[in-house]
Amino acid sequence: MIDSKEKLRKIVFKGLAASRLPQMLRPLLGGEGVVLMAHRVTAAPGTIYGFNSNLVVHPAFLDELVAEMKTQGFDFVSLDDAVVRIGKGGKGGRFAAITLDDGFRDNLTEALPVFEKHGAPFTVYIAPGLTDGDVEPWWEIVEASVERSGSDALEMAAPDGKLSFDCSTDAAKADAFEEICRILSEELEEEDQVAAVRSLADNAGVDCEAFRQSYLMNWDEIRRLAVHPLCTIGAHTVNHYNLRRLPKEKALWEMSDSAAILEERLGERPRHFAYPYGFEKAVGEREARLAGLAGFKSAGTTRHGVIQKEHAGHLHSLPRISVNGRYQNIDYLKAMLSGVTTPMANRGRTVVTV
Ligand SMILES: [Zn+2]
Repeated sequence: MIDSKEKLRKIVFKGLAASRLPQMLRPLLGGEGVVLMAHRVTAAPGTIYGFNSNLVVHPAFLDELVAEMKTQGFDFVSLDDAVVRIGKGGKGGRFAAITLDDGFRDNLTEALPVFEKHGAPFTVYIAPGLTDGDVEPWWEIVEASVERSGSDALEMAAPDGKLSFDCSTDAAKADAFEEICRILSEELEEEDQVAAVRSLADNAGVDCEAFRQSYLMNWDEIRRLAVHPLCTIGAHTVNHYNLRRLPKEKALWEMSDSAAILEERLGERPRHFAYPYGFEKAVGEREARLAGLAGFKSAGTTRHGVIQKEHAGHLHSLPRISVNGRYQNIDYLKAMLSGVTTPMANRGRTVVTV
């Protein structure tokens, strides 16, 4: 799916790359560093429709990106070191901290070799509910279900009754994916998501348990990462809920208990956190305060932006630069890393918080 905004952005990125404007404006807008955000890293062929292709990058592209950033003088550092550097300014090159959300197995099997090759530290944010199968990576299950559904309508059991989605053509499938994701993330209560998405999967013949075992790391694999000298494990709530849709006590519990569970499983309490979804409707000032109360040193959103010295006062509202599967072109990333796209994506703001 290529929407008109995506097309326009790519034209702008290409134009920026050709203009040398990013290079010229980098000293002004580039800030102290960047926190990169990825989800899945794999050379496996994509899905038929690629509804979630924004969340998947090829390891060769990740390799090319890290190499390019080293050429540009970025220092790859752990999140602990990034937090120390934020606000200090001017020491060494600009820093880059790599983060990956959700704990997909390819982080271990396909991303880790790239990080080892470059000696680049990275953080993987884990939501124990996803690892244990208490909740589902529902956006992936929806894609698999829509993809598998034949000419019959796809059905999902919601608390108010059964919903039906036309999946008879490619265009209908694209609409169904969007609509089901909207219902799951905006209409249903967060706690009702899992039953609804499992009913959808049942209807389509998708096995959620098999999906989890195939694609997500188990605890043994997470432990292997946790003891790796380049890896930091961060927390990502217990149940991957949209915190802004939860009452305060529950949101705080999701944050602090995810740290407690990870400490129990891995022997070390995570110091860093990423908000599930991370966009405006999922994290605001209340959540940033709660992340501080839960004891995290930093918390990352999915807002687009580079890190400026002012973020020393906003360590729980750190924007990230998405390593997005739909933008796997080094020119696009060069534009983003220069800081030029930060005000473009944030109504002129260069210091992006929540
Ligand atoms: Zn996530």
